[in-house]
Amino acid sequence: MPNLLIGGDWRAGSSAAQREVVNPFDQSVVAKVDEATADDVDAAVRAAAAAFAGGAGEWPRTPAGERGALLRRVADLLLRDEDDLARLETLDTGKTVGESRQDVQDVAAVFRYYADLADKDPGRLVDAGRRDVVSRVVYEPVGVCALITPWNYPLLQVCWKVAPALAAGNTIVVKPSEVTPLTTIRLAELLQEAGAPAGVVNLVLGGREVGAAMVEHPDVDLVSFTGGLATGQGILRAAAETVKKVTVELGGKNPNIVFADVDLDTAVDNALTAVFLHSGQVCSAGTRLIVQDEIHDEFVAAVAERAEHIRLGNGFDPATESGPLVSGEHRASVEEYVATGLREGARLVTGGRRPEEPELAGGFFYLPTVFADCRRDMHVVQEESFGPVLTVERFSTEEEAIALGNDTDYGLAGAVWTADTARAERVARALRHGTVWINDFGPYLPQAEWGGFGRSGNGRELGPSGLAEYREAKHIWHNTAPEPARWFKG
Ligand code: NAD
Repeated sequence: MPNLLIGGDWRAGSSAAQREVVNPFDQSVVAKVDEATADDVDAAVRAAAAAFAGGAGEWPRTPAGERGALLRRVADLLLRDEDDLARLETLDTGKTVGESRQDVQDVAAVFRYYADLADKDPGRLVDAGRRDVVSRVVYEPVGVCALITPWNYPLLQVCWKVAPALAAGNTIVVKPSEVTPLTTIRLAELLQEAGAPAGVVNLVLGGREVGAAMVEHPDVDLVSFTGGLATGQGILRAAAETVKKVTVELGGKNPNIVFADVDLDTAVDNALTAVFLHSGQVCSAGTRLIVQDEIHDEFVAAVAERAEHIRLGNGFDPATESGPLVSGEHRASVEEYVATGLREGARLVTGGRRPEEPELAGGFFYLPTVFADCRRDMHVVQEESFGPVLTVERFSTEEEAIALGNDTDYGLAGAVWTADTARAERVARALRHGTVWINDFGPYLPQAEWGGFGRSGNGRELGPSGLAEYREAKHIWHNTAPEPARWFKG
């Protein structure tokens, strides 16, 4: 079956080009998928615009509760196909199949959340200060939404966008990362199966050129992008031309602050998961460990010792704890980043190279790596590696910990570990990050906003704000007793 979905029809790209999808565990080709051209993007946007029909289309006029019912069916279908979706996600990304299953369950919860929210909060009455005027604010869908996603959490990222965009009554054109398109193709099939009318959900595949054609298209009203900082900056510039609404969720360099009063074993264990889960290919990974002087040496030694025991392997092997990096290109960029750390004088405690086991030689593996003696002015402390690389800094006072935690251009997420509840609250309030965990690292909820301060992006996904991104507010002033105003006397 062809892989582009345009106006309800599955078709190949107009150039007939295809792209190979590679398993990062062994570099085998797991699929060949159709590649879109700028003409295909144009056709997909036109199909979405026709289905939206300036707000008069079937989908934007469908009662919000019925749109919610469709989202609920999608949640059921995702869970029905959990095995298949998890298998595809692991083939595509290399992550463990347990993580892939968790992703499927999480996105089903996101679809249910927006299904429930779709018909809540239809607007509000506003006191106009006059008895003869009814003033109210209502919400309208924005229009045609271009949804562009990265390779690290392909299914999860696209669902965070698709569910609220459809709940609000928009029509969409989706583009997954060219590196990991498989679960997004399956999602588009499930949306069709759940009853999304033709043209409401469109899918194009490809890389930078295809994404750029979406962002530049005059009939796209909103772009929601998750990906790297430089790409996001380019999208903001390109979208300015046609004054689109733009939401960008970008990278992070996330502090994990540990005070000396913690239970060491618990904090070490969580510091490990924070940075090495999915080989560090997580936008909110706790890559910047900031430890209080008293426990610094013991903490670093314990993290390094446990990092050396992380079992790398095939995501389908139940013994595997972490998979490979997503591509050879990405591993090369992580290697360059580690070389920079060494040049800057960071002390390599463990890792810093590829594993030597012959059974891992075919994949894009890289050892969990720990750099100690890091300073805030180092590139490796300030820039995202998006790989399994931890930098460690030390602090003595609470003020110093906060200053270090906020010393970043990013602001996506951070954590504080301490047994002192009042201090935990003070530090959490002082950190300039979109998510702060106290004595934990990583959890998120469909009900709670996700997004970044600073260069981690603008706008929010999840929670009520995640729906608001896809709505326009409209004020309707109804004068029930009009009469001449006589401003002009003649
Ligand atoms: P990327 O920026 O290279 O690509 C992301 C998407 O944008 C892909 O679909 C790509 O094809 C597309 N694209 C590339 N150039 C484009 C252009 N000029 N116009 C339009 N689209 C274009 O990012 P990536 O390497 O796929 O993902 C890794 C990055 O994503 C990391 O920096 C990570 O921190 C970030 N990320 C952020 C979050 C978050 O919630 N803040 C979540 C996951 C990943």
